[in-house]
Amino acid sequence: MRDGRHTRVPTDEGATGAGTLRDMTQHEHAARAPAAGARGILPADMISVEEARARILEHFHELEAVDTPLWDGTHGVTALGQVLAEDVRADFDIPPLANTAMDGYAVRAEDTRGATYERPLRLRVTGYLAAGSVYEGVIRAGEAVRIMTGAPVPAGADAVVPFEETDEQELGRWDARPRDSVRVDVEAKPGANVRAAGEDVHRGEFVLARGTVLQPAQVGVLASLGRASARLVRRPVVAILSTGDELLRPGEPLLPGKIYDSNAFSLAAQVRSFGGIPRVLDVALDTVEALTARIREGLDGADLLVTSAGVSRGDFDVVKTVLANEGEVGFWTVRMKPGKPLAFGVFRGPRNPVPHLGLPGNPVSAMMTFELFGRPALFKMLGKPKAWPRPTVRAVAADRIQNTDGRRFFARCTVEPQDGRWVARLTGPQGSGVLTSMSLANGYAVCPEDVPAIEPGEECEVILVDRDAPVPAARAARG
Ligand code: AMP
Ligand code: MG
Repeated sequence: MRDGRHTRVPTDEGATGAGTLRDMTQHEHAARAPAAGARGILPADMISVEEARARILEHFHELEAVDTPLWDGTHGVTALGQVLAEDVRADFDIPPLANTAMDGYAVRAEDTRGATYERPLRLRVTGYLAAGSVYEGVIRAGEAVRIMTGAPVPAGADAVVPFEETDEQELGRWDARPRDSVRVDVEAKPGANVRAAGEDVHRGEFVLARGTVLQPAQVGVLASLGRASARLVRRPVVAILSTGDELLRPGEPLLPGKIYDSNAFSLAAQVRSFGGIPRVLDVALDTVEALTARIREGLDGADLLVTSAGVSRGDFDVVKTVLANEGEVGFWTVRMKPGKPLAFGVFRGPRNPVPHLGLPGNPVSAMMTFELFGRPALFKMLGKPKAWPRPTVRAVAADRIQNTDGRRFFARCTVEPQDGRWVARLTGPQGSGVLTSMSLANGYAVCPEDVPAIEPGEECEVILVDRDAPVPAARAARG
């Protein structure tokens, strides 16, 4: 944008101030002391997104490597996105034998010398060979073997004449009746249509390095090497707990005063999309007893506990009490919107300490804080600590993005290329309870802490949320 004002997002602000849990508790009452901030409404010691993230990440480490099937039929999951914890070499050539790249006739190239459409020549057909079989004999002068793509080239042959260069095409399409001879219309060069043994990978060759993040192609390469499993960094198990007397599980009849628990589902889906294994616990009522019981049940075998709601200052927010009883915890006000209150602690689990991320209850806040703090934690456990940042683009704002209170604002938007630049449009009302603002978005436009508004036509940074397909506008721009 030629004349747009450039806004910038701090990338490393406060990231050095990582402390212990004890340090964190200093922030426990931060929200009580409003400071004379830029606009007079900032609590005295709000921490930045970067500082909160750095403090949280200190408590996570790469999980152990385990032998993992490439495809787990029981759970329907693949090794996609997991990190390889071994160097992988080939035990054999791929392909193991020279084979044909075309359906055709395996021949000795010299036997086809001089063949043209005007003056074709004939070879004696001595065999038919499908992929998966090996020709027992040796091809001699004047002989040809009818051969299907992928079948090993018989001994003695050094070229394959494709059907298209024989009289095969004059036969019926499915006609595979044995024939005594074949007309060859075109001369074959030695090696024509033959894939050499080891063309892809040679025996003993180093194929995939430890630390590789498995994408579909790498999963395929492992399989091509005959590997049914590989040593991979384990996926973290994330226990997810919704708290609140008002919550019903989807499927139950809606009752007065109640709402459906959406957080457990959006968070479980986030966990899954970040590479973790979600374990959704039953909803906990807003009592110390209920919450304590649920949390204790859910901790066994979990690498992270995520709760939503109960970390603000409502009367019934018992999460804080329970956290303080069951482990060490800090409560922070993070300088971001949506999602200001955040708890982080470590539980005394039945076997080992389990980190706990206490997210705000509002559905957008819960997702956004999990995006900014849970995603990096999961990536660190998965052994790819630097891979969590999503791509960003500079986009021109089509709408005014207003930042009311000096926190970093993550505005939900659609972002799409238009006339050679990216254009960001808000997805409607931006309240932290408006979950559809998330579901319509494929980006989060970032309005920095110190910028009161991004005006239409100005540039902003937009975090691209992964999306396989554009979101159809289910609802015209609202509000
Ligand atoms: P709280 O953090 O308990 O003050 O909750 C903040 C808001 O989020 C309230 O309007 C809650 O009803 C709502 N909320 C809390 N938990 C959930 C949940 N699991 N699903 C949907 N909304 C929730
Ligand atoms: Mg509540």
